[in-house]
Amino acid sequence: MKKLLTLFSLFMFCSGIFAQETNTGSTSSAGASGVPNESAIIAIDTVNTADKYVKIILFSDKSWDYLDLDKPVIDDEEMYADWDTRKIHMQGTPIDSLPDEIDLRLIDSTIHYCMPLDSIKINSTYKYRHGRPHRGIDLKLNRGDTVRAAFDGVVRIAEYSRETGGYGNLIVIRHCNGLETYYAHLSRHLVSSGEIVKAGEPIGIGGSTGRSTGPHLHFETRYQGHAFDPERVFDFTDGVIRDSILDLKKNYFDIRSHYGQTDAEYAAAIAAKYIRIKSGDTLGAIARRNGTTVRNLCALNGIRSTTLLRIGRSLRVR
Ligand SMILES: [Zn+2]
Repeated sequence: MKKLLTLFSLFMFCSGIFAQETNTGSTSSAGASGVPNESAIIAIDTVNTADKYVKIILFSDKSWDYLDLDKPVIDDEEMYADWDTRKIHMQGTPIDSLPDEIDLRLIDSTIHYCMPLDSIKINSTYKYRHGRPHRGIDLKLNRGDTVRAAFDGVVRIAEYSRETGGYGNLIVIRHCNGLETYYAHLSRHLVSSGEIVKAGEPIGIGGSTGRSTGPHLHFETRYQGHAFDPERVFDFTDGVIRDSILDLKKNYFDIRSHYGQTDAEYAAAIAAKYIRIKSGDTLGAIARRNGTTVRNLCALNGIRSTTLLRIGRSLRVR
């Protein structure tokens, strides 16, 4: 305590706030010169400590106190299962071994949420796009916009990822219920791996790093390493969470399964047929081989008749 008081005095001396009366003996004695006038004492400043959830608050009478911010409660056992700070995707339970339904509690009276961006417009959804799975949602942003943690949790990954998915500057946060949220293409990180974050806390600055054609936030939701449509968690149009509990079904981890889809639409999506593009293939040849038209192929895959076909990529033909 004594050491802290000395440090505190040093701070005051350096900052010049109390330069006229700096005196190590009087820093914490509110009533040094008589009975303090309680009503006149006001908080004038806060000082950061090594712990971001503890600040020192300075009062006008030169006294001070600790200010404990509401630190998220982390259940170590649940939080750090299969904890790996190098592999982007958690090597969790295989989809086949997961229960058919998992009730994932997202919020309650003590667990809050926050939309990852202050203002939201959807650029692209969770679906097959250009012949490849797009396992997240793209949200429009301006370079420099603040990106926020969706829920309380611990940062697992905070790095530039060139290999997996072209995420660029990526942050992955593990939440208390096992859910992970991904924030990609950031221009920079504001948090580091291992850091505890609160829902709404700024974690990064929006950008266009990695495989990206313009500034946007690529946001993913994953459970046991498996992605599902983030629109099952959030209504991005209205900027609210859909429900306090997410009834996570096994088939949600299928890229063909998305929010708002009827059973019939999902069945049709499952009946879809994909082929792998081979050397020398053209859209015309693929259309003829599969009894369809170039126009249909373009509509099914979100491409144009002039789109360059890449060998090895898959193409939906039905
Ligand atoms: Zn994306």
